[in-house]
Amino acid sequence: MTDTIKAESAEALVGERLEQLLGGYDPSVEPQEFWGNQYDLGLAWVQFPEGFGGLGVSPKYQSVVQGALEKAGAPTWNRELNLLGIGMGAGVLAAHGTDAQKVKWLRPMFTTEDMWCQLFSEPGAGSDLANLSAKAVRDGDEWIVNGQKVWTTLAHIAKWGMIPVRTDPDVPKHAGITYFIVDMKAEGVEVRPLYQITGEAEFNEVFFTDVRVPDEYRIDEVGAGWRVSMTTLMNERVAIGSRALPRGGGSMEAAIKAWKDYGHADPAARDELVQLWAGWEALRLTTLRANQMRKAGTPGPEGSTGKLAWADLNKAITAFTVDLMGWDGTLYPGGYVLHRPTEFESEGSPQRNFLRARANSIEGGTSEIMKNIVGERVLGLPGEPRVDKDLPWKEVPRG
Ligand SMILES: Cc1cc2nc3c(=O)[nH]c(=O)nc-3n(C[C@H](O)[C@H](O)[C@H](O)COP(=O)(O)OP(=O)(O)OC[C@H]3O[C@@H](n4cnc5c(N)ncnc54)[C@H](O)[C@@H]3O)c2cc1C
Repeated sequence: MTDTIKAESAEALVGERLEQLLGGYDPSVEPQEFWGNQYDLGLAWVQFPEGFGGLGVSPKYQSVVQGALEKAGAPTWNRELNLLGIGMGAGVLAAHGTDAQKVKWLRPMFTTEDMWCQLFSEPGAGSDLANLSAKAVRDGDEWIVNGQKVWTTLAHIAKWGMIPVRTDPDVPKHAGITYFIVDMKAEGVEVRPLYQITGEAEFNEVFFTDVRVPDEYRIDEVGAGWRVSMTTLMNERVAIGSRALPRGGGSMEAAIKAWKDYGHADPAARDELVQLWAGWEALRLTTLRANQMRKAGTPGPEGSTGKLAWADLNKAITAFTVDLMGWDGTLYPGGYVLHRPTEFESEGSPQRNFLRARANSIEGGTSEIMKNIVGERVLGLPGEPRVDKDLPWKEVPRG
């Protein structure tokens, strides 16, 4: 079945499955059990084929599912719990995984039983990801991985990690990469915390020393890792930039609350609030429209526009909010406690959100890189000079 399925029959199918999932919904059911049922009924990612958490219908029906779950008071927050898996890993497996890999990883990912992380950035490769140095060498039916990754969100609780590594240093940088799923609990994987300005060690540095990865955990062909990495990043930008928030929700809600609580009458501040509100609302409506128009398959470069706009606005709104709070905005409620989150903390106090939002224009690709992508791949402007594109990777100068 594909998304060419007729609209009326797709709607009827989704409605029927929702009835099976929610008819007589029992709120005492454990969330993981509920999500397992949701997956088995094809309502996890409706655009995926039947048997893999979907129904083979247009992805626009996912918002129908989401709305019905919210209305019924059913658990809906699994994406936040396992953002790297559900927001990115699932798209990678759908586009490049074998059926056996989908069966192994998709269901426990969706139920959040298995958490996932993304092992892309390295000390010497961030924006220029294709320059990565962590390597894998084949040994029979296994690969031996060595190297270091950094800024790995939730690596300390992840069971599985998505990792592109260099398998051929003799060819140009984009061609010598292979993509694996690695068991984060395997021997030789060491995860160390990195603390952020919020006091949270949400991310980590990860060291790989002779870690053995079975060849069956390889995603796509040997040397096709760049293609798979692009699928991951396109999904990531959509996952970050396309959250369907309610009107005036998210960081805007905190700004409006601060406006009311701190009784501002300053016309310049009111002007700024209204401008931010209008920008946030335009982004919300654009996101809703993009979600409605989204076709099944890997998202394209246009996902970068949402990510770019969201990062700038979220930073501006959270900064405006702490400004409204005056001296209160400088205090960290509950004290500044260093801790290690066990889930992705998307919301907190306005002060914490202000600090956390500084990362929005870096994580998932920096705003400068988003502008390059939009310029080159959406607007068709001339590309940046890339002098090392055709050089064998081992000859590319590295710091
Ligand atoms: C909160 C947070 C969570 C993260 N989680 C993860 C994760 O889970 N997994 C993971 O792999 N990584 C993660 N990252 C890392 C993130 O993807 C990288 O930090 C990001 O891609 C930038 O890479 P870099 O830090 O090496 O900076 P660099 O690439 O060294 O960039 C430094 C500066 O140069 C600019 N620059 C670089 N190249 C260009 C260019 N061609 N044109 C214009 N400007 C350019 C950049 O915009 C930036 O301002 C996370 C980062 C943050 C902040």
